[in-house]
Amino acid sequence: MEHLRLNRAFPVVLAAALAGGPAAARAATDLGAQARQIARHQVEKFGKGYATRIDHNRHIVYVSALDDGHLRETIQLLSSFTDAYRRALPSTRPAWNVTVVLPTVDDYKKLPLPFPDCAGFYNPAGRRLVAIDRGRTLLHEFVHALHHADMAASRQVHPIWVSEGLATLFEASRITPSGLKPQLDRRLVTVQRAVRAKKAFPLKRLLTMGRSPFMTDAALAYAQARYVMYYLHDRGHLAGWYRRYKATFTHDPNGLKAFEAALVSRVFLIDPAWQKWVLTLRVPSSEYRTHEGRLGLRVQKVSQGVQVVGMVPGSAAKVAGRIRVGDLIEKFNNRVIRNTGDFVSAIRQAGAMQTVTIQVLRHGRRLAVIQPLGAPPAR
Ligand SMILES: [Zn+2]
Repeated sequence: MEHLRLNRAFPVVLAAALAGGPAAARAATDLGAQARQIARHQVEKFGKGYATRIDHNRHIVYVSALDDGHLRETIQLLSSFTDAYRRALPSTRPAWNVTVVLPTVDDYKKLPLPFPDCAGFYNPAGRRLVAIDRGRTLLHEFVHALHHADMAASRQVHPIWVSEGLATLFEASRITPSGLKPQLDRRLVTVQRAVRAKKAFPLKRLLTMGRSPFMTDAALAYAQARYVMYYLHDRGHLAGWYRRYKATFTHDPNGLKAFEAALVSRVFLIDPAWQKWVLTLRVPSSEYRTHEGRLGLRVQKVSQGVQVVGMVPGSAAKVAGRIRVGDLIEKFNNRVIRNTGDFVSAIRQAGAMQTVTIQVLRHGRRLAVIQPLGAPPAR
């Protein structure tokens, strides 16, 4: 955030003192200049309608098609998440700028996506995260960005169970004064099913697995890696394990010995204890509710189509302020809207926390409005 530049001098001097002198201070200044360059370059690339913000303290460059209100909300989320992540795990902050792009759906679809239908991704080569989702996908990919920076600082490459274990663990977590508190989620069902059917990966195998077998049974591997990390967290050993793992990485690149040391046991004994623990957990019922995207528009069928007649206070549409009462809704993410049923089902399909494009007719002019969807109210 630009306004942070005003009191940037102090943390820079402090960082320089800790990291050894003027070279570090110079590096921090260069990062600031680089951040402005990235911001300019990305805006040129994505074109008009994109805003940029720079968080000079956390080294994050935001490039966004969101309205001010939702961008501010997202920056606030990632700022407190970054700080909480570093309270939860001993990690070095990025020595480079992480670019977070929050594009329109149309612009997103033009990008080369690593998986079809993914709502976001982090590319380590460009240190760039792109997401059309502002929920779990954004946080998952953001953990990859933070973890990538920490691996680079320790000159290590951690195995996939560690990187996906951490990303899946913290994608569904709450920010607390002591760090991040993981929440039970639906991935638990996958693990419990596998444990009951005796098809779970033996822990020793999971912890020493290469990328390709991991991805072959990705749904189980991701879920199991999450609940191994969850177990460490539950026993109060996650940070201790991570610290030890990084310190002894050369002798223990998979983290298996550090895992045994943290739990003061051998993996063949930990495995049945872990399985028993997994079966005691219950997925909260809130995880089963369908997460529909919420917009907060009151609409009505009129002869020309669907017209906005009101807005729910505090809703995504009201916060963004881009759609007005009286607008005729013509298209939703390129899907033609003929009646209120089309509109409701289009919102439903888009899902929570996504950014969509809505074409409206306003005073005879056709406008494409970029609109972030909210989440349904918690019940
Ligand atoms: Zn991932």
